[in-house]
Amino acid sequence: MSADKPCAAGAGPEHAGSVLQRRLSLVDLLDPLTFGDVVDSLGELYRVGIRVLDERGRTLADAKGSNGDFCGFVNACPQGRSRCATLGARLNEGPLVPTQGAQALPGVSPLGGELLAQPCFTGLRYVVMPVWWEGDALGRVVLGPFAPEELTDVSASLGEVEGLDLARARELVTHVPRLSEHKATKMLAHVAQVLAALLAAGQKSYLTGQLHLEAMLETQRDLEAQNAQLSRLNQRLKESDRIKSSFLGTVSHELRTPLSSIIGYSEMLAEGLVGGLNPEQMQFVRTIMEKGNTLLKLISSILDMSQIEAGKVRLAFEWVDVRELVESALTSVAPQAQRKGLTVKVQMPAVGQPRVVADREKLRQVVVNLLANAVKFTPGGGRVDVRLSEQGPQVELGVPGYRIEVEDTGVGIPVDQRERIFQSFYQVDDSPTREYGGAGLGLAIVKSYVEGHGGQVSVTSEVGQGSCFRVVLPKEPPLSGQGPAYIPPPIDTEPERF
Ligand code: ADP
Repeated sequence: MSADKPCAAGAGPEHAGSVLQRRLSLVDLLDPLTFGDVVDSLGELYRVGIRVLDERGRTLADAKGSNGDFCGFVNACPQGRSRCATLGARLNEGPLVPTQGAQALPGVSPLGGELLAQPCFTGLRYVVMPVWWEGDALGRVVLGPFAPEELTDVSASLGEVEGLDLARARELVTHVPRLSEHKATKMLAHVAQVLAALLAAGQKSYLTGQLHLEAMLETQRDLEAQNAQLSRLNQRLKESDRIKSSFLGTVSHELRTPLSSIIGYSEMLAEGLVGGLNPEQMQFVRTIMEKGNTLLKLISSILDMSQIEAGKVRLAFEWVDVRELVESALTSVAPQAQRKGLTVKVQMPAVGQPRVVADREKLRQVVVNLLANAVKFTPGGGRVDVRLSEQGPQVELGVPGYRIEVEDTGVGIPVDQRERIFQSFYQVDDSPTREYGGAGLGLAIVKSYVEGHGGQVSVTSEVGQGSCFRVVLPKEPPLSGQGPAYIPPPIDTEPERF
């Protein structure tokens, strides 16, 4: 690592790049409270001041030594204070080179670099130990002030300080701890050992923490990239879905007109409007009508779905008699049910049921779709039950409403398919050889129309035993929300009892 890299202290852009390439800092590696306590106890042990500064000269720990009242006494004079401050600043910012009276001590400093002895203008002394760690200059330790062993008198420069009582200063300097250079160096070697142990432990946990952070940031960056990719794909999917809906809508619309003509002309033929048909011809014409009607239903479903997906469906709400509506839906599936020999049972609430607000045609289609499925997926001889509940509070909706249930004894739906069958074009059996016809749109239309009424549709089922589709609807659709706008019917068509 090189010393000219930007400082690693603090967070933010300074921390860009891998943690292994980052310049280390004392602030990052040491816990300030623990480190402060350690330095305090070393200061107490040696009875000499120890100050630890980082590479910017910021104090990380400062243990005051016991130099009696000498320094305080010198500081009490303005000139003494100013010279003391100048020296303090120099120790904070440097020198780490032997200048301005500082001298390199023999030998190598325990944490790299040179030990420097810095004289004080009073005659006292400091020793500065640089702190190098893995090639980075992290800061320095300043030991002192102490009285050098060879000190016999305060320095001559102290005598130049105006207003200072020199005799008192001479007396006080005798209380300042006296140290030989050798002893000061040994003390610093001890401090270096403690500092090295703390730095090693601090570096380990710092790197672990940083690597963990980096791994998390990397994961977050990956997730963000994936998210962006997903939203691009989503956008494209939405666009293709829109194109698909619009294509299906156009094609269905174009097919419906000629198909209606085919069915219409077949009906005219079957009714003998253009002359009598022999039994075989009649059979052919009926088949054309039947297949034509199946195709027309399919096309209508596709058209409905494309309208729903394009958000073009507006529900026309009015007061509706649900009993009547269910009965009418039943008539449209009765022939198929009869052909398969199914028993269809209807359970309606007692009379006196108030009307509800709904889109008559759409709600009828909901019931027809559910009934048509029940009939389609129930083998011959089975049973279909239709139940319309009394009106009352509906827990799911939190408002008064009613339920329509269509239950069958048919093939049932595997548990993992129960959510998916409500998606458009989804069928449990979508193999080309599937037994049942259909396009997989009926339930998607049911869900969309029911939700448009502010209701919910759900299914319970057991494979091989049957299914029960439950539609819960509010008595009146909500005025706002995601569903289509609801305009209450005029006052003069207040609900009647039937
Ligand atoms: P379609 O009936 O045209 O295939 P739907 O959307 O109405 O489309 O139904 C989707 C699928 O849900 C069906 O293909 C079928 O697999 C399953 N399903 C719907 N209703 C029933 C039911 N009553 N019993 C068993 N399976 C059903």
